[in-house]
Amino acid sequence: MHSPPLAGGTAGPAALRPLLDVVLDALHQGAKTRGGPLPPGGPEAVARRVHDAAHDILPTHGTGAQEALTTLVRALAEGAADPAEPHCAAHLHTPPLALATAADLAASALNPSLDSWDQAPAASALEALLTRTLGQEIWPHGDALITTGGTESNQLALLLAREHHGPVQVVCGAHTHHSIHRAAWLLGLPEPVVVPAPTGTTDLAALDDALTDLHHPLLVVATAGTTDTGAIDPLPAIADLCATHHAPLHVDAAYGGPLLFSDRHRHRLAGIERAHTVTLDLHKLGWQPVAAGLLAVADPHHLNPLGHTADYLNADDDTDAGLPDLLGRSLRTTRRPDVLKIAVTLRALGRDGLAHLIDHVHTHARELAQLIDQHHKLELYEHPALTTVLFRPRDATDDTVAHIRRTLLTNGTAVLGRARADGRLWLKATLLNPHLTPHDLHTLLETTLSTSTEGTPR
Ligand SMILES: *Cc1c(COP(=O)(O)O)cnc(C)c1O
Repeated sequence: MHSPPLAGGTAGPAALRPLLDVVLDALHQGAKTRGGPLPPGGPEAVARRVHDAAHDILPTHGTGAQEALTTLVRALAEGAADPAEPHCAAHLHTPPLALATAADLAASALNPSLDSWDQAPAASALEALLTRTLGQEIWPHGDALITTGGTESNQLALLLAREHHGPVQVVCGAHTHHSIHRAAWLLGLPEPVVVPAPTGTTDLAALDDALTDLHHPLLVVATAGTTDTGAIDPLPAIADLCATHHAPLHVDAAYGGPLLFSDRHRHRLAGIERAHTVTLDLHKLGWQPVAAGLLAVADPHHLNPLGHTADYLNADDDTDAGLPDLLGRSLRTTRRPDVLKIAVTLRALGRDGLAHLIDHVHTHARELAQLIDQHHKLELYEHPALTTVLFRPRDATDDTVAHIRRTLLTNGTAVLGRARADGRLWLKATLLNPHLTPHDLHTLLETTLSTSTEGTPR
């Protein structure tokens, strides 16, 4: 039996080309069969179809590349919740740009691993360039680490604070992402002190009181773009309180961070440069395939606690002889070159192109909010801070709201999220698709309303 061809080397591209055709055809057919934002029928129907298509995952005799790619890629596409579909808008689940996905293919073909220079000579140099560039978007001497997303970035931020200041008491708003609480738990830190956020952002007087009462070491966590509503904390005022109380500041800008690229919206992140660490996530408002997280740091020396030696990866004499030491750039060992798709995207689009995308989705969110506000059957939660719009049918109960969302999912007609705000349950549209049209926004609301009259909650 022949060994299947490899993806790399001079022969790799010729081996890949026909397989890519197979993959692209399967993607096309799968999307066409699905015919909407997600497959109809709910979890049981989807599981049944996957099982029917692919019941034998490990046959005695293989089916060959063409059959396996066709069957499984088609099954996955047919059963996908596809964020490129206009009515797929539940989460910070981005529709990736084609150019970023193409770059990711090259990353897979070359397969550099960012844990040592001899596995990633150019990729490590590109990563150094990109991380410095992004760090310096915030601070003159900033740097950044590439992570798997906001969760890992927040964990690293708390870890670095602990290594520099001791077992920090985290102080954060009630709206803070759950990953901060998990990170404190994982790192053996005291449970975070939660300050109320009655208007959706951290209450400043309550934060001041907490910082007055608590013992050092402290770490304040602010959020620039909450997952539920997109609200941005008042960063300058929080930074002032941190300065008064000598507490370092971490800003979780997993959602709102890319506003830095937009002249129109950048001012809303004013004060972010007073943070010590910032979480960014380009698989949200950055249109990257997962994963594309970053932890940015004001001072590159802040990363020193991550330094670590394993003789086979970064022996001292190799480092002394000039081989870059990469192990301190992550807690992971083997590590994908997520840098490539990000770098390709930044270069291809430039600041203008990114700003255009960011401005576009913000405009959509404003338009959707306006449509809801003007609709006599719908209630708008508030005018959106970022691209998240909360709404509900007037006079609906929480049970009805939850039922509408599940019915839309089961019918396969729309993917909306849910969020509790103001003590009530809301439908959540998170708009990240730059290709939405006014018609898409209109039909999203009409679909939701017709579902709400489609029978009583079970
Ligand atoms: C999405 C999000 C996270 C977590 O990021 P992942 O990439 O999902 O790990 C953290 N904080 C906020 C504010 C987020 O929106």
